[in-house]
Amino acid sequence: MSVATAPAAPDWARLRADFPALRRRVHGKPLAYLDNANTAQRPEAVLAAMDRYHREYNANVSRAVHTLGTEATAAYEAVRDTLAAFINAPSRDGVVLTRGTTEGINLVAYSWGGANLRPGDAVLVTGMEHHANIVPWQMACERAGATLKVLPVTDAGELDLAALPALLTPEVRLFAFVHVSNALGTVNPARELCALARERGVLTLVDGSQAAPHLPVDVQAIGCDFYAITGHKMFGPTGSGALWGRPALLAAMPPFMGGGEMIREVAFEGTTFADPPHRFEAGTPNIAGLIGLGAAAGYLTDIGMAAIAGRERALAAHARERLAAVPGLRLVGAEAPDRVPVFSFVVDGAQAQDVATLIDLDGIAVRSGHHCTHPLMRRFGVPATCRASLAFYNTEAEVDALAASLRRARDLLA
Ligand code: PMP
Repeated sequence: MSVATAPAAPDWARLRADFPALRRRVHGKPLAYLDNANTAQRPEAVLAAMDRYHREYNANVSRAVHTLGTEATAAYEAVRDTLAAFINAPSRDGVVLTRGTTEGINLVAYSWGGANLRPGDAVLVTGMEHHANIVPWQMACERAGATLKVLPVTDAGELDLAALPALLTPEVRLFAFVHVSNALGTVNPARELCALARERGVLTLVDGSQAAPHLPVDVQAIGCDFYAITGHKMFGPTGSGALWGRPALLAAMPPFMGGGEMIREVAFEGTTFADPPHRFEAGTPNIAGLIGLGAAAGYLTDIGMAAIAGRERALAAHARERLAAVPGLRLVGAEAPDRVPVFSFVVDGAQAQDVATLIDLDGIAVRSGHHCTHPLMRRFGVPATCRASLAFYNTEAEVDALAASLRRARDLLA
């Protein structure tokens, strides 16, 4: 099915059936998997693509000239094209295949940061970042003698845009921000943020981990310099991901890791490196995983990301209404009107972990904890939250089951 030729609304129930794990029962109840921001389930198309690689053409990439090696290399390089199209990159050359967003951000912080950050420089991040978009920058700043600055978050769970111009001072070299918050579901105005940064000569890195499964991503329209995605949040396997970088920036960056596949010529006197993107792909990659990620991107493209975003707007509205009606439940920073169906909440008088444990007995999977966002939890004065994070395959009935289960949990715990 191609959305261009078949604009009819997708059959969401049929698409849900593509995900075998969603047929499970947990504690005798139908599974309601509402932990997609943590990791999403995989459709048959992804499982089949990985299985076929393992069964039919398992070989290393870019090394062997035999048939299986050539097939594996072709499939691996085709993933680069699929992902370039998925994020509307201007060319495949800027797409570095990684093990996930954490690796993509560390790559830029280490390679670009090592070559460009000087004492007195600054990197700007935001108060709603995942630790993966904080710690690598802290480490890079420490190595360079640079400082880390932070754009605050409002009570509504949005970036404090009014504070941004004053923070984009001349010593800021790069602004790293999350496109969609994994804890609050807020969709940040990536295009506006990048435009402001660009006006002041500041580079931008966007953590797109939680945007890629929910929204159409267009790196050219956003106008960023780097964009990182991760496979397992977008219905692909763990240990797969991609970093897009402007080819001119990547070309000027030194390697991140050294090893096979990233070189042109190695001699004991010195080594010359391959051009990007291969310069940043040292060693044997997660070939099966990346083939699975390519299949996931193809699967999402076939459904249509705009259709997915539309379906999820309806799910988010339903979830907000049902959750807000649960007595004693407080949504945390969920007021941003532009959002994906990801909700953090606390239940008065109950620990988040106890709530999550109790509702698991009803077959409902949510995450409890800090969601790798310690500074954001501190900002909202909570040690932990429960987080219900939905994907396009979730249903209103699952949201209703969540709300009913939360009511029972509250009666027992509070
Ligand atoms: N950033 C965000 C916003 C995330 O949600 C996550 C995963 N929880 C990461 C980065 C880390 O990505 P990965 O799992 O690929 O290391």
